[in-house]
Amino acid sequence: MKLPKILTIIAFFGSAMAWSQEPVWDANKVKLTHERLADGVYAVYSKDAKTLEAKGAPVATSGGIVVGDNAMVIIDTMLNKRLNKQLQDIANKQGGKHQIYAINTSYHGDHSYGNMYLPQGSVIIQHENTKQYVDKHFKKDTEFMMYNFGKGRGIEQIKPTTGDILVQQGGQITLDIGGKQLQVVDFGFAQTGGDLFVWEPNSKVMWTGNAIVAVKPALPWLLDGHLLQTLDTFKRLYQFLPADARIVPGHGSVMGKEDLRWHIDYLEAVKREVGKAIKDGLSLEETVKRVQLQEFSGYALFGWVHPALNIPAAYNDLKATK
Ligand SMILES: [Zn+2]
Repeated sequence: MKLPKILTIIAFFGSAMAWSQEPVWDANKVKLTHERLADGVYAVYSKDAKTLEAKGAPVATSGGIVVGDNAMVIIDTMLNKRLNKQLQDIANKQGGKHQIYAINTSYHGDHSYGNMYLPQGSVIIQHENTKQYVDKHFKKDTEFMMYNFGKGRGIEQIKPTTGDILVQQGGQITLDIGGKQLQVVDFGFAQTGGDLFVWEPNSKVMWTGNAIVAVKPALPWLLDGHLLQTLDTFKRLYQFLPADARIVPGHGSVMGKEDLRWHIDYLEAVKREVGKAIKDGLSLEETVKRVQLQEFSGYALFGWVHPALNIPAAYNDLKATK
């Protein structure tokens, strides 16, 4: 896989910052709550998630806790010590002193920086591309996270802490925690190329990480490009899920299967309209001007995500596959 071009990402985030004037959420203020989805199965998300997401505003990182008879799984370890502690406090209340497995849905700091604060003996599970990314780009990654989430948010203290178990490209593992078998799956390129989805089959709960940001009107961020592969992954995810599945997205409260349609419809519209623009011989700049897709503009970050990130990503991807 092609590793993300960190400077391009900084430029993108830079424009997000310029656009929003401040970090999209403050890691020193977020308070996490949990929702019981089934026996031993919990979604964890920001207390204000439902209020914010309804307005299309950005929400802090979500995650999860799954408690089995022999072990406990933490899905995503949060950005800093403060948030990781809140997560562990919830986990301790629900699970007690179990063997801990922690899964990172991607290398993004708000999903993995908390790894270093896990109790001794915890086992970390990542995608092999996530470990490779952290091994090569950690310093730059923390710099750009500080740039976007601010200084004094605990990012200064983070040391690289990578996986003990690595999921290979296109692979999946089953984690038997006693009475529950979690599937940790690479469904295909979803945002970073090191994306893991976590499926708990009994309760039919799927954690998606950032691939699915939050319920409508939130939109996907094609940070590392690959419109076509991302769309393909979303469609396979949709096919995989039973009608009554519940989804814990990367940055919001619990959604249903049909909520995925919004994300798929948006990427389909981007693909169709950008494809037409390319056919008409338009430049990237002209394409950005033409492909407005106002019907998707309810997302607070639309003014950046759509023209500065997703349209260029789609344009480059569709041009390259011509
Ligand atoms: Zn995230």
